[in-house]
Amino acid sequence: MIRTNVSLEKLNTFGLPATAAQYLALTDPAQLADPLFRRSPALVLGGGSNLLLREKVAGLTVHVLLGGVTRLNSDGQPLAAGADAGAMGKGEAGEVRLRVGAGVDWNQLVRYTLDQGWSGLENLVLIPGTVGAAPVQNIGAYGSEVAEFITAVHVWEYGYGASVLQPEACDFGYRDSRFKREPGRFLITAVDFRLNAPDYGVRIGYGAITAELERLGVAAPQPGDVALAVTNIRRSKLPDWFFLGNSGSFFKNPVVSRKVLTRLQATFPKIPAYPIDEESVKLPAGWLIDQAGLKGVRRGSVGTYARQALVMVNYGGATGQDVLRFSELVQREVLRQFGVALEREVRLF
Ligand code: FAD
Ligand code: NAP
Repeated sequence: MIRTNVSLEKLNTFGLPATAAQYLALTDPAQLADPLFRRSPALVLGGGSNLLLREKVAGLTVHVLLGGVTRLNSDGQPLAAGADAGAMGKGEAGEVRLRVGAGVDWNQLVRYTLDQGWSGLENLVLIPGTVGAAPVQNIGAYGSEVAEFITAVHVWEYGYGASVLQPEACDFGYRDSRFKREPGRFLITAVDFRLNAPDYGVRIGYGAITAELERLGVAAPQPGDVALAVTNIRRSKLPDWFFLGNSGSFFKNPVVSRKVLTRLQATFPKIPAYPIDEESVKLPAGWLIDQAGLKGVRRGSVGTYARQALVMVNYGGATGQDVLRFSELVQREVLRQFGVALEREVRLF
């Protein structure tokens, strides 16, 4: 049932005031047969953790609440309709395949798989949002990205109907995918995962994970230990959106040529850079904002977070326009000081 003038304030982690002109909760794939879904809605909403909402979302907002976790066989077919994935095979060795509804909470899925003793998603713990949004920006953190574990994405293509995309067809990239590049074409209904692969070892080389494991006294880390280490690090660096509204990293890390890096190094010899390929490197946007003198800076009800400059926070009462204006100030200042353009990661509606 479509409702009108529904507040989205509690449905976006920035806590920005916005209204959906029309709102529909998608709880059953059968609803997609409605002629409504021949065209793209104005907004497909998951957990609202990567959004910058302005006052009114004109048209229809579809809130994806499709649930379900089903165990699959090695051919990707359900083992038993509606079977509880966890009831079968807790702690088993060997590959595990799952089909997960798009509306399932991402972090709950990660916790659930770790509780079963299945490895893979541990570095991606505590990322807010839904399973259906995970392929959209190919969520990643601490040296892992979700595309590594995806075997298929189930979609509804507006005007065509349901289909299944293999990973090659999703064109995954660094925090990027076809779903992001072709907005308004697909609604993701479910995602298939391959976990617990025998050749997958724990990944502890990124950032402070090793140091945190040492602090915890863990010598031979298991996936659950890595998840705990990542959880501790994230909690120490990132604001809890429940108390301080935010959408995580506001900008993407800019990718620049090695020529640009050499130019920057002449003035900023300590600039961090991570190789992407032979020609280009990734610069941490948070470092650029910090060096531009904008870490922990506040303008009215919006600011950059004191412990991670890449995160913009809503101190209470900010509107989408306030955040947008402040973010443009940050973009101008970084461009002026470094000649590097910052692109928004959050999606503007
Ligand atoms: P939403 O914000 O609701 O939507 C995001 C985009 O996906 C929109 O364009 C929306 O239309 C589209 N979308 C949503 N669901 C579907 C669907 N079913 N079908 C088609 N399109 C859909 N991201 C990372 O990559 N790594 C991190 O470590 C990370 N940490 C974060 C930490 C914090 C504190 C916060 C607030 C955010 C963080 N993020 C991170 C960003 C965010 O969590 C991810 O982008 C997440 O996948 C967004 O999921 P969501 O369900 O909230 O999507
Ligand atoms: P960080 O560890 O302080 O590092 C800053 C930036 O440098 C990160 O963006 C990261 O890029 C890059 N980096 C650091 N070590 C790297 C390495 N060994 N190899 C390649 N790149 C490296 O970052 P942070 O802000 O605390 O975030 C930690 C992780 O969580 C990152 O992976 C980050 O992407 C993720 N995260 C994402 C969001 C979001 O909203 N998208 C929000 C919070 C945290 P990468 O981002 O490419 O890893």
